[in-house]
Parts: sequence; structure tokens; C-alpha cells
Amino acid sequence: MPAIRPVVVVRVHEVALKGRNRPWFMRMLRRNLAHALRGVPYADLKLRSGRALISLKDVAEWSQVRERLSHVFGVANYSLTVESGLSLDEIREAVGALLEAEGPPVGSFRVRAKRSNKEYPLISPEIERAIGADIQQRTGAPVDLRQPDQTYRVEILHDGAYVSSETIPGPGGLPVGVSGRVVVLMSGGYDSPVAAYRMMKRGCEVTLVHCHAYPFVRSTSIEKVVELAQHLGRHQPGMRLTIVPIGQAQRQIAIASEPEIRVVLYRRLMMRIAEAIALQEGAGAIVTGESLGQVSSQTLDNLRAIGAAVELPILRPLIGFDKDEIMAEAERIGTAPISRVPDDDCCTVFVPRHPTTHATIAEAEAAEAPLDVQALVGESLAQRTDFHGDPARWDVMQALAGAA
Ligand code: ATP
Ligand code: MG
Repeated sequence: MPAIRPVVVVRVHEVALKGRNRPWFMRMLRRNLAHALRGVPYADLKLRSGRALISLKDVAEWSQVRERLSHVFGVANYSLTVESGLSLDEIREAVGALLEAEGPPVGSFRVRAKRSNKEYPLISPEIERAIGADIQQRTGAPVDLRQPDQTYRVEILHDGAYVSSETIPGPGGLPVGVSGRVVVLMSGGYDSPVAAYRMMKRGCEVTLVHCHAYPFVRSTSIEKVVELAQHLGRHQPGMRLTIVPIGQAQRQIAIASEPEIRVVLYRRLMMRIAEAIALQEGAGAIVTGESLGQVSSQTLDNLRAIGAAVELPILRPLIGFDKDEIMAEAERIGTAPISRVPDDDCCTVFVPRHPTTHATIAEAEAAEAPLDVQALVGESLAQRTDFHGDPARWDVMQALAGAA
């Protein structure tokens, strides 16, 4: 066995662990950790009393593991711990490995020692002084016992010593999968990727559904959604995306209806498509990026007229958010650079400058009366392209060929 053993200790929020769901919660967390760590040559991943322990083959893996863990919902915080033998020399070696992995302390530091093993020949202040002097000598960083910038912890147990420093806050939330599945209506815009992220953070697995009017408009939105799926796929093992061409259905709607209500009818079509896919996927709700009053189509009246087309619950996690707040979150979670790329919104096809802001359910139903709505849904879905698994392997050209 090597003299030192680096282990990443991953902690979850205690409140999430209460009750009978605990084993399920931890199994999902473990699955998601394994997904986040794919390609990292760690030695072992196991669950121990409400924690996950990731044994590293080498402390050099830490920087990569550290970045990956920031994508795993349900993680409250985590830290690198180096396990060693009990002698001072072995503990010093562990401290050296920790400093190598994390770099020198940023500013001042102190050492806190704790002995669970009371037979240990040195008392805690002696350990603190010896290890403190060692860190000072290695890094030149000043000691500050009152308000240090960083604290190193040494724990002496019967079978070994444990050295750790920084505790890094995780993203929080619930492990993806513990809350079931939802279908997210994804445009290429700023809002829907943030809505998807929010639902994943609350423990939902997502199936993304993108409707487009290619080849009547450019293919940009499709390429953006594939890229967004790849980005969001960091949080979820097994991403799913369905791309549905609706240009022909939109054309039939446009022939049969007044221009002012077309946006509402297009949205009702998307809702029905999302509901059909949700039922196939075993999803419990439809999610959109709508925010009240953000654009003229997102009034209470229109949301009602659009939502009335389906029976599944519609979740709108951004309903009370300002555009500024949504944009800031899109920057933080890294979807903004993808959303920023200009594209063609399929809902503006055959639509006037001033669509209705106060549609009623009766108006929407009357406007749909000359149409065979179920046939429009069926014809659109017949041309769908499904992507499952690792988004890095998805082929946009294949989706375009299917759509053309
Ligand atoms: P986003 O920034 O997400 O595009 P938006 O501010 O542009 O939102 P709308 O275009 O009115 O708002 O769309 C409202 C919601 O309808 C989107 O958040 C998304 O959930 C859904 N949606 C819009 N266009 C599409 C599309 N082409 N395919 C699937 N869903 C869509
Ligand atoms: Mg949009």
C-alpha cells in the first residue's frame, strides 16, 4: 500500500438525507458522480455513512475532480483529504502532497489538530506546532492563529492520520434523477436552458424537445440546441434530445388562421408535441422558459390559452424572473455564449408585428376548428429525430438530413 492515500470526501445536505428515500438518494448521487468523473483515472468511489468517498490514484487528479464535482447536484461541499501513517514524518508527507495538489495557502494559515486516539504520543498543540512549522518552511506563508485565510486540519485516529484543508461549496440541490423526469421545451434562447438547469438542480432528469422550421429557416437553432444539450449533459448521465420539424404544420396553421393568433396556435402545437413525447418518456410535466410579461406572448391570458391544449402540468421555473436575472444565471451556468448566437425563431414565421396578447381558450379552439390538430401533431412527430446518450457523439447533420 502506498504511504499516502488521497481521498475526496463529498458531503450532502443532511436535510435531503432524512427518511426512507436516503438509499435511493445516495445511489443516484453515486451514479451521477461516476458520470461526472468519466475519463478521470480515480481508483474507487464508495458510499460511507451519508458521504461519498472518491479514492484518487494520485493527488494530481485533484484539480480535475474538483472541477467535475461542481456539476453534481446534491453535493453540499467537498474536500481533499490525504490519509497517511501515524508518524510525524508520514503526516508531513501527507501535508506535502496536499500542498502540491492545492497549491500554497492563499495568505495566512493555521493548523488545527484533533486526536481521537488519546494514546498518541504527541498532544494536539505539539502536532499543530510541528506541522505548522513544516508548512511555513515549505511555502513561506505566515501563521495567523486568530483569523487565518486557510485552516489545515490534522485528525489522528487509531489506524491513521488524515490531513485536509479547503472545504469547497458544491452546487447544492438534489441529485438528478431523484425527482423523476420532465420534458423541457428548448428554444435556442437564453431562458429555456436556464429553466432546464433549474429543474435538473431540483432532481429532475430532462428530455429536451426542440421544434424548428428548418428548411424554411436556417438550421442555427438546431445546432445551438445540440450544443446546449452537450453543456447541460454535464449534470445528467444519458442526455436525451428530440428535434421535431414543425414548419409544414405551421404553414397549414397559417393558411387556416388569422395572423394575430398564430403564435398562440404554434405554441399549442408545441405543447401537444411535448405532451406526446412526455407520455412516451414517462415524464411527469412539461417545462418552459416563460417569464410573465417578458414578451407579448407571455401574458396570463396567453399562458392560459396555450396551457389549455394539454393535460400534463406545465412548470415555468422562471415565471417570476426578470430578463436581467435570467441572463446573469445563463452567464453563471455557462449557457449564455451558446444562447447569444443569433438564430431564427420558428414562432415568428408567418406572424405579424403585433400578435394578440389576450387570447382566450375559446378563440384558440375556434381558430383550430378547421384544422386536424392531432394529424398535425402526428405528422410532425413522424419526422422527429431522437438523440440519446453522450451528446458529444451526436451528429447534427443527421438531424438536418432527417428534417429536410
Ligand atoms: P427563450 O429565450 O427560451 O427562447 P423567449 O424569451 O425567446 O425564450 P419565447 O420565444 O416566447 O420566449 O418562448 C417561450 C418558451 O417557449 C421558451 O422558453 C421555450 O420553453 C418554448 N419555446 C419557444 N420556442 C421553442 C422551440 N422552437 N422549440 C421548443 N420550445 C420552444
Ligand atoms: Mg425564443
